[in-house]
Amino acid sequence: MEELRIGHGWDVHRFTKERPLILCGVNIPHAHGLLGHSDADAPVHALIDALLGALALGDIGTFYPDTDPAYKGADSMQLLEKTLQMTPFPQWEIINIDLNIITQKPKMLPHIPAMKENLAKVLSLDLSRISIKAKTNEKLGYIGNGEALESSAVVLLRKKVC
Ligand code: MG
Repeated sequence: MEELRIGHGWDVHRFTKERPLILCGVNIPHAHGLLGHSDADAPVHALIDALLGALALGDIGTFYPDTDPAYKGADSMQLLEKTLQMTPFPQWEIINIDLNIITQKPKMLPHIPAMKENLAKVLSLDLSRISIKAKTNEKLGYIGNGEALESSAVVLLRKKVC
């Protein structure tokens, strides 16, 4: 019988001045970027957590601790690539991923095609299997007042038949 696994990830980063805004590896022009030890690519962090969660391997902090200088300013797309090379990921294939990005500003829609292209490349996945949705927080709370950006991810994996 085929084995399927589902994983869910979530992340939040605070907006700050003098940082680039990098989401799914795309540098998005904005007055603020996200604060973090790495490049603070929240949707990619949520996706890594979803992948690790699907196989009950722990979370992103287990593998890429924010106390480790090796990950200072790290490119999260590279961390995603590294994660998929880790045992036992080569025995699994991704069926689809579904990401949410929740932020009041800037508008995400113009950047979503480039984000999907970046993920398709790293995940070796057809674009039709990658969903990225953007929402505001209806001006409510810390997302709504522009303090932070949140992201969540769901991934479905299937064990490869040898
Ligand atoms: Mg993070």
